[in-house]
Amino acid sequence: MGMDTVRYPEGHVLLRHLARELPVISHGHGVYLFDKQGRSYLDGSAGALVASVGHGNREVAARIHEQLVKVAYVNGTHFTSEVTEELAARLCAQAPPGLDRAAFLGSGSEVTEAAIKFARQLWVERGEPRRSKVIARVPSYHGNTLFALSLSGRPHYKKFFGPLLSEVVTTAAPYPYRSGLQDYAREGADHYARLLEETIAREGPETIAAFIAEPVIGSSAGAAVPPPGYFAQVGEICRRHGILTIADEVMCGCGRTGSFFASTPLGFEPDALVLGKGLSGGYVPLSALLVKGAHLEEMRQGSGGFMHAQTYLQAPSMTAAGVAVLDYFEKHDLVSHAARVGAYLQRRLREALLPLPGVGAVEGVGLLAGVELVEDKATKRPFPRARKVVEGLLGALFAEGLILWPNTGHADGENGDLVMVGPPLVITEGDVDELVEKLARGIMQHMERR
Ligand code: PLP
Repeated sequence: MGMDTVRYPEGHVLLRHLARELPVISHGHGVYLFDKQGRSYLDGSAGALVASVGHGNREVAARIHEQLVKVAYVNGTHFTSEVTEELAARLCAQAPPGLDRAAFLGSGSEVTEAAIKFARQLWVERGEPRRSKVIARVPSYHGNTLFALSLSGRPHYKKFFGPLLSEVVTTAAPYPYRSGLQDYAREGADHYARLLEETIAREGPETIAAFIAEPVIGSSAGAAVPPPGYFAQVGEICRRHGILTIADEVMCGCGRTGSFFASTPLGFEPDALVLGKGLSGGYVPLSALLVKGAHLEEMRQGSGGFMHAQTYLQAPSMTAAGVAVLDYFEKHDLVSHAARVGAYLQRRLREALLPLPGVGAVEGVGLLAGVELVEDKATKRPFPRARKVVEGLLGALFAEGLILWPNTGHADGENGDLVMVGPPLVITEGDVDELVEKLARGIMQHMERR
């Protein structure tokens, strides 16, 4: 490929892909990245679905700089700050009902852990310490720290790290392409609600603290959208059994699906919600945990408060990035833009890709889409994992200047190779055309060679 590579005498950077040399990044602008060799890349996945306001965004960078030179860091247990209060207030103002308190950390994994700890502490405060289990769904992804990984329905991520935390129980996540149902849209909600009921009955509701779900599943199921009415039923079941609900919007939140919170149009009214990635657009690490003030009040009256803090809790440099991103969203009406261009992306992907060999499904909503590649479209049989189909395809596309995010299926033989499409929200229809054409051409060439 002749890429510009890192040429320091000793490679001190710990890379996951030790076998591959990486090009050296130079700069970015909007949906494009440029390496030191002058090659350009259309960032069709916003990195790891992060760069919401595009690269090289001077407006956002300037706002962070303003805060950095005032004060970059104070510990959230010593001080609050105007940017932190503003970010909390503005997120809570548009969040699902009752979510009126926010805390800020650095990564999606951290806020997932914090949400689970919040749920567990609440049950201890209520005098029900037996409620310690968490129901998670398969497939799913909630992060790479030990608890978040334990929750994640992705076996191949876990193979070196056992024993994992055992108090995680699972139920099936809605997965349109692989539900096995005749009519996913009509039967899906009842079907998956029944499976959840069975899990709860098997485990005993009095042992369950919380249920966690990605409203629109990210890379582990290729942007799977739940069937209509699913979250209304899930909410009712969990309320009936006293189980707290947690929405993981780390990937699907912050406007990516065409509404700021993905839960809202799906009728999901969780007890806690987590955001990350697009919240700062990648300018600094930033994630958010939103909870109900009523629950926090129970803790205040009990032990005194939520027992959780980390070094970068509420650091003003981070929350300033969140405020800058929200301002940019509002000024450029970016959520409506994402809905409009997202509808175009979804239509173009389906038209261009579904007829191609090897393309089993195109799913998603807004600027979050997943393409599932299979060896046999009639039987939906995945490619054997050992063939590394998605790695090969995305490697070739990268060399051609298109970046997309791979997922290798949640278990060999259970689902196919997944390609995630999730560009910066500032993408235009013209960029979408370029993205779809390059992807379609890449798939055609790649499938011909198999
Ligand atoms: N939750 C979801 C739905 C995610 O997609 C991710 C990351 O991809 C995480 C949590 C973990 O976030 P982070 O990688 O920032 O720790």
